[in-house]
Amino acid sequence: MRKENRWTNYDEKQIKDLNALAEDYKDFMNHVKTEREAVEEVTKRARKAGYRDLADVIAKGESLKSGDKVYAVWMKKTMALFTIGTEPIEKGLRILGAHIDSPRLDLKQVPLYENTEMAFLDTHYYGGVKKYQWTTIPLAIHGVIAKKDGSTVNVRIGEDEEDPIFCVTDLLIHLSKDQMAKTLGDAITGENLDVLAGSRPLKLEEDAKDKKDPVKQNILAILKEKYDMEEDDFLSAELEIVPAGKARDLGFDRSMIAAYGQDDRVCAFPSLDALLRVEKPAYTACCLLTDKEEIGSVGATGAQSHFFENAVAELMDRCGQYSDLALRRALSSSKMLSSDVSAAFDPLYSEAYEQKNSAFFGHGIVYNKYTGARGKSGSNDANAEYFAWVRRVMDDANVAFQTSELGKVDIGGGGTIAYISALYGMNVVDAGVAVLNMHAPMEITSKSDLYEARNAYVAFLEAAE
Ligand code: MN
Ligand code: MN
Repeated sequence: MRKENRWTNYDEKQIKDLNALAEDYKDFMNHVKTEREAVEEVTKRARKAGYRDLADVIAKGESLKSGDKVYAVWMKKTMALFTIGTEPIEKGLRILGAHIDSPRLDLKQVPLYENTEMAFLDTHYYGGVKKYQWTTIPLAIHGVIAKKDGSTVNVRIGEDEEDPIFCVTDLLIHLSKDQMAKTLGDAITGENLDVLAGSRPLKLEEDAKDKKDPVKQNILAILKEKYDMEEDDFLSAELEIVPAGKARDLGFDRSMIAAYGQDDRVCAFPSLDALLRVEKPAYTACCLLTDKEEIGSVGATGAQSHFFENAVAELMDRCGQYSDLALRRALSSSKMLSSDVSAAFDPLYSEAYEQKNSAFFGHGIVYNKYTGARGKSGSNDANAEYFAWVRRVMDDANVAFQTSELGKVDIGGGGTIAYISALYGMNVVDAGVAVLNMHAPMEITSKSDLYEARNAYVAFLEAAE
């Protein structure tokens, strides 16, 4: 069933398009390492492409019509963009759904402490991580500090060449006899994923009231000066520790991209790019970007929240098409690509994969009919009839695609947002880009697969029936 490697049959123009897309993707990734930064960057790009804030449209009492472009944002961490189709919305939308959160280390609410004249930030990891991978690499801090007076301060330290970085330390090999005897899962504990943040004590006055923790006091003084924040302001902050540095080409042939957070921004980015390319779709085209996927799509900004349903209701209302029944029809008649990454086959760990149902670099967008674990548990198992339609759309548009399972049957598994949208009765299938090192601080993708995914998303949004 495996077809030719897609790199072998591109023409010159396609290679040029592919490279342009990859460059734009790297630029996107360099601006976006958190869900908030994703919403900010996508909003910027959407506004440039003529999208208006649905909240403004509502506030001004304006109406919307076919061809109009709007976006809705919730809590600065999830958003949906719509290009209104020529068909009534109750005929269904074409939805590209991806998530914009990624595994990372979140600062605890009381993070800062001093131990033996070193200051650390205590963390609680977010999403599935192999803890040992997060030690001894350059780390940056991204996020916000929300203050009691209602203001928020943006934080981004560790990305500019002149910025300091941060680090989770690890024991030197010379003293690691006991540590090396432990399993990979036990050797580094979650509680020990604390970030080294300072070592210079504040010079205290003779009569200083508080002589404890001078290194910590020095850091608090720096934070006060730089962000006008008190220690208590950590209580209402969302500060995320992420790998520092930029997205890079990988390999002599520059065929791959190495970057943090490609799960799932390698799907979010081409989904947005595809939507921006579709001018007058028949069915209302949508790009849905959700938060909290890595911890179960929970909360007000996760896919399980009513945000998306509410946004579609508001959209239909502005189009003069809203009724409870019309909304239900719109959602149940929709078609969706739940765009999330899949595991790329790694020949060095071939024992974890079943080859003929695995995804390979250079073989196009990956469809997972189902994901799940222990007997497909927790998966959305897409309908055969729907996937037959998807195959036809891909073939008609000459898009390379492959199908895959997430590894061997009894080894593990995973989930996406597909099963949540499917609750409305709509047709959903998992579709995304294959990733090596998934959930590691540096994930790897193929430029060709990124390009095929983008083209697949365009074909999906434009498909006639
Ligand atoms: Mn994912
Ligand atoms: Mn993931």
